[in-house]
Amino acid sequence: TTAQKQYDAVVIGSGPGGEGAAMQLAKSGRRVAMIEKYDSIGGGCTHWGTIPSKALRHSVSRLVEYNSNPIFSGDRIERGLTFNEILRHAQGVIRKQIQLRSGFYQRNQVDVIHGTAALVDPHQVRVHYRDASQDVIQAEQIVIATGSRPYHPDDVNFAHERIYDSDTVLSLKHEPRSIIIYGAGVIGCEYASIFRGLGVKVDLINTRDRLLSFLDAEMSDALSYHLRNNGVVIRHNEAYQSITGTDDGVVLETESGKRLVADCLLYANGRSGNYEELNLEAVGLKPNHRGQLEVSPCYQTGCESIYAVGDIIGYPSLASAAYDQGRICATAMLEGVCDHRLVSDIPTGIYTIPEISSVGKTEEELTAQRVPYEVGRAQFKHLARAQISNSSVGSLKILFHRETKEVLGVHCFGERAAEIIHIGQAIMEQKNGGNTIEYFVNTTFNYPTMAEAYRVAALNGLNRLR
Ligand code: FAD
Repeated sequence: TTAQKQYDAVVIGSGPGGEGAAMQLAKSGRRVAMIEKYDSIGGGCTHWGTIPSKALRHSVSRLVEYNSNPIFSGDRIERGLTFNEILRHAQGVIRKQIQLRSGFYQRNQVDVIHGTAALVDPHQVRVHYRDASQDVIQAEQIVIATGSRPYHPDDVNFAHERIYDSDTVLSLKHEPRSIIIYGAGVIGCEYASIFRGLGVKVDLINTRDRLLSFLDAEMSDALSYHLRNNGVVIRHNEAYQSITGTDDGVVLETESGKRLVADCLLYANGRSGNYEELNLEAVGLKPNHRGQLEVSPCYQTGCESIYAVGDIIGYPSLASAAYDQGRICATAMLEGVCDHRLVSDIPTGIYTIPEISSVGKTEEELTAQRVPYEVGRAQFKHLARAQISNSSVGSLKILFHRETKEVLGVHCFGERAAEIIHIGQAIMEQKNGGNTIEYFVNTTFNYPTMAEAYRVAALNGLNRLR
């Protein structure tokens, strides 16, 4: 039987994109239904992506710190932690995140419906339930926030028990002795840090000539240096010829003729949008070759009543951006105007060990654009706080305009980089001349702090102008 339900808006997908949109719409008094095909809410972000990987990373980095700190050296954790043990911490965080969000939706009267959504027309969505029953939901407006999944090339057998992607790696039962990570993007580099921290032998295969080439080259070089220094074998400019699962491992043959063998392989090279079940043809929409939808600056698709946010629209494919896109899209839906935008400089947080974070322009971009800039640097090893907390690996650099002294970019490598980057971001967003590097020398920082790196870097940079 087909029942008919009516809402002001239907949001498809309960990840950060769907959450941002649903909450903003509900807080403005709209009747909202959220359709989620998975058994629990939170999206790939909570179940397979951001949250578990960051929780794993946290446990591993504490382990690395513990084992490297001379204070504890008489008391090292000789056995190490297993992947399974640290996964339990991640599962605890996931449970809390789900609870928190359920509470938000209940308090704001968002109806969460568990089923798979398919479009019927510009104002109707069909929900297919597990028990094969169906419903049709009617809404004035629809938001697609169905996210993405790991890309699977046809010639790799993901059904093999030793070949994983970033979703299935979380079901790893036994600690491998060695792993090949194919793809050295953010996910590949983060998992290389996690496995290496657990003492696993890691081969990281990069299809390009440098790691994370969107980063300032100095940061990318620092990452390569530290991963290698910690024992990760990085192979640049390689592509696989074949990946074969065997009884006790995986063999990867590269196009250049190398034969690599490991206990298991994590394929982390690309993602594709989740559009197949949406029946996009019904509303005249067509995804691009990566399964992504094209949208206007306020996230409207080619079909007037349908919006799309998050990984399904591609770049930047971050949980942080997805949530804000949802919020901005909802505002456009509510007001019928499109004058809100994401901040132009979205910060990047990369949770390798050590972590990296950036906001604004890189040196390479400024050089290409012929902007006269100067650099101010601080080394963490000179900061009292870094010495105290045994986190002296790292640096912060500020790029600023030689004449106006405006801060143009901040790049940070090391402990807490993803947190302290926001100080730079806040200054860069100041108007009326408040966005210059002089702020950092004219203010008082808590002492001792990692944030003090800004003052040290600013003094260093301003000195260079003289
Ligand atoms: P998702 O979170 O993927 O949610 C989409 C939801 O839609 C899913 O629950 C899915 O079941 C549901 N769905 C799909 N199709 C249908 C349908 N037809 N009907 C009903 N429901 C449907 N980002 C960061 O900002 N910081 C990080 O540190 C970070 N780390 C990451 C680490 C890993 C390993 C991965 C894989 C990703 C990471 N990301 C990170 C990226 C981030 O997870 C994604 O950008 C974010 O989850 C995208 O949000 P979304 O709402 O678009 O989609």
